[in-house]
Amino acid sequence: MFDRVALIGIGLIGSSLARALRRDNPATRIVACARRSETLATVRRLALADETTDDPAQAVEGADLVVIATPLSAYAEIAKRIGSVLQEGAILTDVGSVKEAVIRDLQPHIPERVHFVPGHPVAGTEHSGPESGFAELFHDRWCILTPLPETAHEAVAAVTRMWERFGMRVVTMSADHHDKVLAMTSHLPHLIAYTIVGTATNLEESLKSEVIEFSASGFRDFTRIAASDPVMWRDIFLNNREAVLEIVQRFTEDLTALQRAIRFGEGDKLQELFTRTRAIRRSIIEAKQA
Ligand code: NAP
Repeated sequence: MFDRVALIGIGLIGSSLARALRRDNPATRIVACARRSETLATVRRLALADETTDDPAQAVEGADLVVIATPLSAYAEIAKRIGSVLQEGAILTDVGSVKEAVIRDLQPHIPERVHFVPGHPVAGTEHSGPESGFAELFHDRWCILTPLPETAHEAVAAVTRMWERFGMRVVTMSADHHDKVLAMTSHLPHLIAYTIVGTATNLEESLKSEVIEFSASGFRDFTRIAASDPVMWRDIFLNNREAVLEIVQRFTEDLTALQRAIRFGEGDKLQELFTRTRAIRRSIIEAKQA
């Protein structure tokens, strides 16, 4: 597959990728880059990489594949530091959850001799850091690539082959379309979870303790989502601003309609919606995305 892979950022996603490479491509040399010495020490302890460094420019030297897997707010600075060092013919990809902003931040620093294939493995958990990764994370999940019109087909094919090897189903689409789809399927649900858990924490003490005690009745699932990494999610909302605001507006309108139906005792409206949503759940199970 690739001889030398540089992973800039080795948390949940970067370390899962390192584990999958180790499992399926033991000959590939892995260089891991992170900021903190504790993170790099953990990477060495877990033997996730052959080399570790806190310098992105050093990490990408001689790499035929470079994967950026840091929070989105670090991308522009990393691109500035690695741009001039990237090897001729190297492929630069990433795993960021938003794609238009990634292209905006990376592209100006990428020399013509390098192939840029923006990507998003749509797989994750609420955990962070190199210890939380696992090779099977990608199995049976979608990976969305958003190549630019000028991106070489062979580079897209090489990145596709890698993710497919790790069990992903790979699809390509425009960055703009990706951001709209993910605003609905991922970003809005997280925003709702953060809001619900936020509302619960604002309750008076007596009620709050009972909410925690009886959380199994639905609240618990939201607390899991709302335990996701605060920095990563801050960056996602700030970098997918337009698409998220559009979908929040629609959601607010639908919520108001439901509020009205409850207020005026319009049970048929409620039941009709709940019947439709139940069918969606069935189709997600059938698509093996449950
Ligand atoms: P994570 O577990 O928090 O790991 C982030 C990694 O980036 C850490 O190794 C961190 O190193 C490193 N890092 C942060 N700033 C850096 C910098 N300036 N230079 C070099 N390294 C830096 O994050 P993650 O969950 O793997 O997410 C990484 C990316 O994947 C994000 O862009 C996110 O949008 C995307 N993504 C996440 C999920 C998910 O469910 N988590 C799913 C799909 C895509 P230190 O420990 O040294 O700070």
